[in-house]
Amino acid sequence: PSSLPGDPAAGAAIKATDRAHVFHPWAAQGRIDPLAVAGAEGSYFWDHDGNRYLDFSSGLVFTNIGYQHPKVVAAIQEQAGRLATFAPGFAVEARAEAARLIAERTPGDLDKIFFTNGGAEAVENAVRLARLHTGRTKVLSAYRSYHGATTTAIHLTGDPRRWPSDQGAAGVVHFWAPYLYRSPFHATSEEQECERALAHLEDTIVFEGPGTIAAIVLETVPGTAGIMVPPPGYLPGVRALCDRYGIVLVLDEVMAGFGRTGRWFAAEHFDVVPDLLTFAKGVNSGYVPLGGVAISAEIAAGFEDRPYPGGLTYSGHPLACAAAVATITAMAEEGVVEHAARIGADVIGPGLRELAARHPSVGEVRGLGMFWALELVRDRDTREPLVPYNAAGEAAAPMAAFAAACRKAGLWPFVNMNRTHVVPPCTITEEEAKEGLAALDAALSVADTYTTGG
Ligand code: PLP
Repeated sequence: PSSLPGDPAAGAAIKATDRAHVFHPWAAQGRIDPLAVAGAEGSYFWDHDGNRYLDFSSGLVFTNIGYQHPKVVAAIQEQAGRLATFAPGFAVEARAEAARLIAERTPGDLDKIFFTNGGAEAVENAVRLARLHTGRTKVLSAYRSYHGATTTAIHLTGDPRRWPSDQGAAGVVHFWAPYLYRSPFHATSEEQECERALAHLEDTIVFEGPGTIAAIVLETVPGTAGIMVPPPGYLPGVRALCDRYGIVLVLDEVMAGFGRTGRWFAAEHFDVVPDLLTFAKGVNSGYVPLGGVAISAEIAAGFEDRPYPGGLTYSGHPLACAAAVATITAMAEEGVVEHAARIGADVIGPGLRELAARHPSVGEVRGLGMFWALELVRDRDTREPLVPYNAAGEAAAPMAAFAAACRKAGLWPFVNMNRTHVVPPCTITEEEAKEGLAALDAALSVADTYTTGG
């Protein structure tokens, strides 16, 4: 580790300036101790103190192509030298080309791309498009979901982290989506879960009044809330309900899109084409902020003669779009999506199941591609979570100990409530994946000590 480029004194100075002046998101400012990052490459990053970490979190699940991909870095540099910025109302080569490459990969006729600066803003605009298209206002979204932290997006988010002051937003109605391990419908099979979830959604639509509902917003595979891959029939069933009641189907692929599930878009696994699809993160692996909404031909046609009321100063920024062109091109040339599917199916999935067989703290393994969750429990029979929802302080200690053990073993984990998500870059090599599994093995031994048997 001492050969890593870093400097403990520089690290300490960066940290001191950070603590003096940076107000961090989602954090109690006095309780955090952010790591001073010195550099990153591929699947790894390192700090100024000689510690290197295999990143099983892909940042916030966005570095699908890994850190410092030379082609993406070069494309940003080249674009900066040529045309570093330009206002959204003009035809700019990088923007046009990014839209073309995205439209080529989105399912069905989602061929018009509205660019944003990130995921939440994409969700805001998808809801606005749906409301304008239908003339209706209500939006349905699922509990156990995450759609972003701006006003509409946080109201749609069905997660116990919603702000304590959140009184609920007029027009947003939550429903339960499939999650067999903790079934809201007390189902005992995937088929039953699927059938009951669809019946519950239809009841919700009918009792809310179909004529008042603009959109159903769903993550194709819910990510932050726990990577609950839906049963095969669920999304086709939701599509059919949307068609029956004239409701716009918005699939949020901010996290699941661009290779994460082993396909360009997760909707492909279920043969479903939404009316609007939101994306961000993997579109350019977050090298420059970018997101967007892919819009169906029918919805786009409604804005041929009336203006769309939305857009920000930096929408479709040339640097971000150049990064997207380079990312998508490199992913295609290097077969990154197929690689993610293969490593997920052949190495990570089987490796996690093998860990689950040996560690009593693992209640369930689920996922696909580079998108996996381990649900940690105190007791496999009762499925009592290793820490309660929204645990803080002492109550959160078992997960904190697990995360610390991961870091000690050189692995940077994604930890949320009683889960760890295994979401490495889609470019991770087989050897790196195995190294990460070995680190998880060591950390799960720590989690095991908190089980009823441990
Ligand atoms: N939608 C989904 C499914 C997400 O996972 C996220 C972020 O994690 C968002 C929206 C919000 O994206 P952003 O943080 O870029 O605003």
